[in-house]
Amino acid sequence: MSQFEYAPALESTAIVNIAERYNLFIDGKFVTPKSGKYFPTINPANEKVLAKVAEANSTDVDTAVQAARGAYSKVWSKMPAAERGKYLFRIARILQERAREFAVLETLDNGKPIRESRDTDIPLAAAHFFYHAGWADKLQYAGVGDQPKPYGVVGQIIPWNFPMLMLAWKVAPALATGNTVVLKPAETTSLTALLFAEVCQQAELPAGVVNIVTGAGATGADIVNHPGIDKIAFTGSTEVGKLIASSIAGTKKGATLELGGKAANIIFDDAAIDEAVEGIVNGIFFNQGHVCCAGSRLLVQENIHDEVLEKLKVRMAHIRLGNPLDKNTDIGAINSAAQLAKIKELVTAGGAEGAEQWSAPCDLPGEGFWFAPTIFTGVSQTHRIAREEIFGPVLSVLTFRTPQEAIEKANNTPYGLSAGVWSEKGSKVLWSASRLRAGVIWANTFNKFDPASPFGGYKESGWGREGGRHGLAAYLKASN
Ligand code: NAP
Ligand code: MG
Repeated sequence: MSQFEYAPALESTAIVNIAERYNLFIDGKFVTPKSGKYFPTINPANEKVLAKVAEANSTDVDTAVQAARGAYSKVWSKMPAAERGKYLFRIARILQERAREFAVLETLDNGKPIRESRDTDIPLAAAHFFYHAGWADKLQYAGVGDQPKPYGVVGQIIPWNFPMLMLAWKVAPALATGNTVVLKPAETTSLTALLFAEVCQQAELPAGVVNIVTGAGATGADIVNHPGIDKIAFTGSTEVGKLIASSIAGTKKGATLELGGKAANIIFDDAAIDEAVEGIVNGIFFNQGHVCCAGSRLLVQENIHDEVLEKLKVRMAHIRLGNPLDKNTDIGAINSAAQLAKIKELVTAGGAEGAEQWSAPCDLPGEGFWFAPTIFTGVSQTHRIAREEIFGPVLSVLTFRTPQEAIEKANNTPYGLSAGVWSEKGSKVLWSASRLRAGVIWANTFNKFDPASPFGGYKESGWGREGGRHGLAAYLKASN
C-alpha cells in the first residue's frame, strides 16, 4: 500500500507582531531594565533570533515587588470580589479573541506544534481564567474557612514547556483570590508572557496587579529571596524546587512546588490494545515529551508485550516530525540545545546500560533542535532511563506479570505526579488507582486537563495542588 502523503499546511505568522526588543512589565508599564541587559530568544525550529528580552536584576525585581505591594494594599485587596472577577472574565475573553496570535507566538518561541498550541495550550489558558473568574466572589467555599484572606504578593516562576498555560495556572488563581503577582517566565520562552502583559493593559487591569520580570535563573532566585514576597508558586525541576524550599526555610513565605515526574502508564492484558496504543503515543509524544506528567515509563503485561510493541512501532512510524507551524505536524522542535543535549545524554546511558533502542524512521531537519520519537525495550528498574526524567520523546518499556507487580514497579520511583491505567475492567482500574501513589491517575486515557481538576504530586513531584478548589486553597489563608 502506498503511503498517504500530506501536502504542507503552514499556519501564517502574519498575525503576530514581534518587536525587536522587549522591556519589563512593571506597575502597568513596559520599563527598561536597570540592569541595562537584554538576552536573545530564538525559534528552536530554525535557531533564528526572534527578539531580545530584558534581563531583570535584583533592583528590577525589587521595583516589581514594590509595585505589586502598592497595588495589593491600595487597590486589589480593597476591591469587591465580584469586581475582581470581572477583570478575570475580561482577560479570559481577550485571550479567546487573540487565541490565534498567542498560539502562533507560542509555537515560534517554544517549538511546539501549532496543532497543540492552538487546540490545547491557549484554549486551556483561557479556560483557567474563566474558571477562576467564577470563583472570585465565592471564596468562602474554597475550604479555608468563612473569610479566607490572600497571602499578599506572590512570586511565580514557570518553566518553558507550556509557557502560556503555566502562566494561566499561576496568575488566574492568584488574582481570583486577591493576591498580586510578580511572575518570571522561563528564559527561552518569554514572549507569550509579554503578550499577556499587553492583555493586562487591554483589560485595564489596575497597574501593579500583574508584573512580569524576564530573565534567567538568577532573576528567579531574586524573586525567591526578596523579603517582600509572601508566597512562592514554582513550577519546574525537582532540583530547583529543592533549592527554593531550602532558601525559604525559616521565613514566613508560603510555597507551592510543582516539580518533575516519571509517570507509569500501565497496560493490562484485558485493555483495548488499539486505544491503549493511542494513549501511549499521546502520553509520551505530546509536546515532544516535554511534559512533567508524561507517561514516560510504559508498564505492559508480559503476555501482550510483543503485540503492543508491534502496534506501537507501526503507529510511531506515522508520527510526523517537522515544521511546528505546519498543521499536520505531530512532533515539533526540542525547546533548546541544552534540553536536546540532556535527552541525548540519557539516551546514550540507556544504550550503555543494555536497553535496546528503536527510533521511528524520520528525517530530522538540518537546522534547529530535533529528536526522533524513540522507545527503549528491555529496560529494568535500575536503569537511569527508568528512574530519571528525560523530558523528551523517549519511552522506557518495562513488563509485569501480575497487577501487584505493576503497582510495585509503578510506585518504585522518587516521583508521584501522574499515572495511567488501561483495562476493560472498572474494578481493576479502581483497585489500581487506590494503590498508585500519584496525584493524577487517568483511566483509559492520558494527559487530560481541566481547570476544575486539581493537579500536583506526591513525594519529589512537589507540594500542593493547582486547579480546582484545592488549587485555590494554596493562595488563601484562614483569617484567624
Ligand atoms: P527549571 O530549570 O527548574 O526552571 C524552571 C524555572 O525556574 C525557570 O523559569 C527557570 O529560569 C527558573 N529557575 C532556574 N534556576 C532557578 C533558581 N535557582 N531560583 C529560582 N528560579 C530558578 O526547570 P526546566 O528545566 O525549565 O523545566 C522542566 C522541569 O519542570 C521538568 O522537571 C518538569 O517536570 C517540570 N515541570 C513540572 C510541572 C508540574 O506541574 N509539576 C509542569 C511543567 C514542568 P530559566 O528557565 O530562565 O533558567
Ligand atoms: Mg525561544
